[in-house]
Formats: sequence, structure tokens, C-alpha cells
Amino acid sequence: MKNNIMQKISGLCLELDKVAFEIYSSFSKLTKNTELKKFWAIMAAEEQLHLKFWQSLHKAGEKNRLPDIFDEPELAYTELKKIIFNTKELIKQSKKSLDISSTFFIAYKLEFNMLHPAFEMTYYLMRDFVEVKMPEDSYQKHIDEFLDMFTKYTSDKPELEMLGKTLQRLWKENRALALQTSQDSLTEILNRRAFFDLAQNMASLAQRNQFNTGLLMIDIDKFKDINDQYGHQKGDMVLKSVAQNIKKSIRSSDLVGRYGGEEFIVFLSEIKEGSLFQAAEKIRVNIEASCPNGIRVTVSIGAAENVFPAINISELEPFIKKADANLYEAKATGRNKVVY
Ligand code: GH3
Ligand code: MG
Ligand code: MG
Repeated sequence: MKNNIMQKISGLCLELDKVAFEIYSSFSKLTKNTELKKFWAIMAAEEQLHLKFWQSLHKAGEKNRLPDIFDEPELAYTELKKIIFNTKELIKQSKKSLDISSTFFIAYKLEFNMLHPAFEMTYYLMRDFVEVKMPEDSYQKHIDEFLDMFTKYTSDKPELEMLGKTLQRLWKENRALALQTSQDSLTEILNRRAFFDLAQNMASLAQRNQFNTGLLMIDIDKFKDINDQYGHQKGDMVLKSVAQNIKKSIRSSDLVGRYGGEEFIVFLSEIKEGSLFQAAEKIRVNIEASCPNGIRVTVSIGAAENVFPAINISELEPFIKKADANLYEAKATGRNKVVY
């Protein structure tokens, strides 16, 4: 069942979070120190919040709505299986009566295992596909709180303190890497590579589910003039504003990427037949109304629609060509308009 590997992976992430919840709950029950009792209860409550996210993701997977995000999903699956095996060992240990530093050492091993890229990638790239929204900094806060307490209670044990620092660095670098590989640093939307990786998978998914999809090429009008008149820095600000405006104008399960310079690409993952124009027009109108820092900015949009099953949509190339030709026509016939 290759198609449902993401469903299986999300199931393992859910299981891993349950393990964490169980361990922290058990710490909170067993410890006599009042500060720590409260602290472990907070850690458990945060895991419970994450559980809602994983449950919702798992549910989306049942409906076959998750794109594959791993180059080697089988490998990610096996890795996660191993992690769960390791952390289940920790449950047993957590039920015994323990001194404070042993408790922290178990929690450390747990958090270390959860920092695995397979788990983090699933979290970061799947966030937009579930209905349960997690605060942007939810995992960051969780790990920071843990490290603060870890440092406080292990300061008499230099070898544990060093471990705390290691975990902190691992977390920061992992996160930076996850963002670096998928995000455009100026506009904070997907970079070209990540867009195509995801769009290709979304297209196959749409094909399986027989959804209509849409593709938009969006280019800022006379952007050179904006740069010339206001300077490059303001130009950058306008670029970021336009990108964020596009993102706000589409659904969270649609994709927007920076195609190059002042050009953006949007993949609409599921549209009603005949509603592509409205979707594109909404973006155009929102940008025209935005006036970032008082600077008037408009875009031209070329659209291409797919009507299942008329064309094989696992191949995106023909759609890009079609949308590009329509964008060219929008530019040639007056700009600030949608051609489809
Ligand atoms: P048109 O309506 O025909 O698209 O005109 P245009 O001026 O937008 O198109 P043109 O391709 O002539 O110019 C695009 C400009 O976008 C030129 C380039 O300097 C600017 N640009 C590309 N990337 C960036 C960027 O990252 N920051 C800023 N500030 N400008 C950029
Ligand atoms: Mg332009
Ligand atoms: Mg251009």
C-alpha cells in the first residue's frame, strides 16, 4: 500500500506523542517535588495538544488526503518504528521511583528521540493539511521549557548540563535546516524546489481522488518601476507583502511558491469546476487593495485548469506552459488582470 504510507507514518507520530504523554503524566504523578509535579503536568498537557494535531492528521490520512513528503517514505517509516521501540522502553523506566536526575535523563532521551528528522519533517510539512492549527512556536516553547528546567535541576552534574546544550543545538540546527530546504528566505513562502516537490505529490493525490486542480502564474506589474521609484529595500518589502497576500487569499491546503524574481506560482489542490477564475480574481483584488506602506502594487495572473480525468495531471509541465501563455496575454492586454 505505497499510497497510504503517509497515513502509516502519521499513525506512528501519533503513537510517539502518546508515549511522551504517558511518560510525562507518570512523572507528574510520581514526583514529590511540587515545582516538578507542576512542570511535568505542563509537559504532559502540551503533548496532549500535539496529540490533537496528530489525530487530525491521521484522520486526513484515512481520506487519502496526505501528499508523500519523503523521498524514501519506507525508510522514514522504519526509523519511526525504531524510535517508538526505544521510547517504549522509557515508559517502563518512568513508572519506577526515580531520583530527579534519572527522571531528567529519561525525559532527555525521550525529547532526543522526538527530534528525529522523520518526526519533525512530518510536523513541519504537514501542518497545513490538518484542521487543528498549532501555534507557530508550539514545539519551540515545549523544548525551551524543558531545557530551562533541565539546566536548573542538573547544574550540579556537568555531564548532564552538556547534554542539555547538545539538545538545544540539535533542535536549532534541525529547525533551521527544515526551513532552509523548503522556504524562500525573503518572502517566507515555499522556494521553487519545495513547491515542485509538494505540487507533484499533490497532483498525484488529486488524480487519485479525481479532484479538479488549478495552476496560477502570478507576476507583479511594472515591478522594475517600483524598485526605481522607492529603492530595492522597499521593493523587497513589497515582494514579501505580495507573497503573504497570495498565501492569505488561498486555502491552507493550496501551495504557493516563489517561481523566480517577482513571479509566483500557485497550485490549487481542489477547485470546483469553473471556479478557477474567481479564485485567481480574489488574489488579484486583494493585492490591488493592499497598498503595502502606501505603495500601489498590482499583479497579472495566468491560469490553467485541469478537468479530471481529461488530462493526466501527474505531469505539471503542460499546465505551467498554459498558465505562462495566459500570463503573457494578461501582460500584453493591459496588466492587472486574470487570463484563463
Ligand atoms: P512587467 O509588468 O512586464 O512584469 O514589468 P516588470 O518591471 O515587473 O518586469 P521586469 O522583468 O522588467 O523586471 C522585474 C524586476 O524585478 C527586475 C528585478 O530587478 C526585480 N527583482 C527581481 N527579484 C527581486 C528581488 O528579490 N528584490 C527586488 N527588490 N527586486 C527584484
Ligand atoms: Mg513583473
Ligand atoms: Mg517577471
